[in-house]
Amino acid sequence: MSVQSPPTLEKLAIQSLLRNEDVAMSSLGELPAVLFPALFKEAFTGKHINFVKEMVASWPFPCLPVGALMKTPNLEMLQAVLDGVDMRLTRKFHPRCLMTPLETLSITYYLISQKDLDSLSRSQSLFQLKHLDLRGVVLCDLDIMPLRGLLEKVADTLETLDLQWCRMTDSQLYALLPALRHCCHLTTVNFYSNNFSVPILKDLMQHTANWSRIRVEQYPAPLECYDDLAQVSVERFAELSSELMYTLGVIRQTKNISFATDICHTCGQRCVYHNGCRLCCCWH
Ligand SMILES: [Zn+2]
Repeated sequence: MSVQSPPTLEKLAIQSLLRNEDVAMSSLGELPAVLFPALFKEAFTGKHINFVKEMVASWPFPCLPVGALMKTPNLEMLQAVLDGVDMRLTRKFHPRCLMTPLETLSITYYLISQKDLDSLSRSQSLFQLKHLDLRGVVLCDLDIMPLRGLLEKVADTLETLDLQWCRMTDSQLYALLPALRHCCHLTTVNFYSNNFSVPILKDLMQHTANWSRIRVEQYPAPLECYDDLAQVSVERFAELSSELMYTLGVIRQTKNISFATDICHTCGQRCVYHNGCRLCCCWH
């Protein structure tokens, strides 16, 4: 016979708050901050839309990690989060309140729609973002201009940009270049697993002369490194990576720069060029 352990006090408190949503919403300001993450998770999973909006508007931390909760795409919940973010901004200018502007937006491995992307760029309160993480959000079939709009809006504050696995194309990166060149506070960028050719990567580098604070920069191996069967040519990879590194070295100083192929389907690793070539297990 198994003995079920009783629910924790925290769990009981959360259940009670979600049962009395109206009361809970009006008293969010008095709730201990430590309760917010677990309560938010329950409200989000249970699709308590108004409660989620109110929680985002009152979120007591500078980081709001939404990505992990977006296991299945749900526009309604993403919209609720964005509405909450906008409510924060409105309240920021109200006396009652001292709100921390949202500094981190992380939406990862999420099947995003054009409508989602449009909403992101229209959101009034993302103007002070320091960290934008869209890792695994496939963008190749979307109109990228809303992302350009967002990057323009946060150019004065953005420090880290993760666009790994976004599967962007040359023309999409080309559209982002005017915005990227103004992001002069960037310290870390990751573009791994995007489908870029050598010319567009060189173009990108030409636009990074202002990135004087950049410490870590990660670029995808250019398309020219792969053959018709999507196999990496190690010689081409080493040669083109070193050529691109040289190109960038002429434009500005670099600290930690690397190029990487896509994940190998056999061993799950990337071949990385960083002070020389480190190949995936299959080559050893
Ligand atoms: Zn491998």
